[in-house]
Amino acid sequence: MSADPTAKYLAAYAPELRAQVRRLIAEGRLAESLERRHPERHDITSDGALYDDVMALKNRHMRSAGPLAKVLYDSRLHLTHQALGTHTAVSRLQGGRLKAKREIRIASLFREAPAAFLRMIVVHELAHLKERAHDRAFYALCTHMLQKLQCRSKVGDEGFDAIGAVVVDCKNDGTPITLATASPPAPAPSSDFDYSRFVRRLAQLYATRFARI
Ligand SMILES: [Zn+2]
Repeated sequence: MSADPTAKYLAAYAPELRAQVRRLIAEGRLAESLERRHPERHDITSDGALYDDVMALKNRHMRSAGPLAKVLYDSRLHLTHQALGTHTAVSRLQGGRLKAKREIRIASLFREAPAAFLRMIVVHELAHLKERAHDRAFYALCTHMLQKLQCRSKVGDEGFDAIGAVVVDCKNDGTPITLATASPPAPAPSSDFDYSRFVRRLAQLYATRFARI
């Protein structure tokens, strides 16, 4: 492990956040802290279930993006590609025509990760089918898909209690990140997905639901 365990994946994040993560790692409390913040689990543990899940999202939002040959969990992805997810197109000749077979691989650590983490990486890799670069169009597509995720109206139903989105401008080269607000792809301040509106909505919901506890 490198001297600073946050150097690889969190290099672009704020120094305070990185310090907090370093402290949690040093105290052996990172997993416990993440579990407390994201207690919701998912049952998408097999490659088949992952394929169905990705296809359902794709059919809803990106029907025109061309077929997806394969979707699978990959236990070596972080070693071979140093990545949490990949999308690839393998071109081969078939009957004299060049055909691209596209596949999405998700690092198998997401099998046991909180539901929101799996959602995040699946939406990210799916968006790459249409937009290759990590640019404005790419994140506009990601936030569009996130906003269409299923919300539930009561406990026991499937779906999230509420969904909000923040968009950050992050060059991933160590320069400070800034919060993108008001203009697309950030949700409009009047939208239900605006982060502070989302927090207020959730606070009201939980104040009612847990009023008698
Ligand atoms: Zn990407």
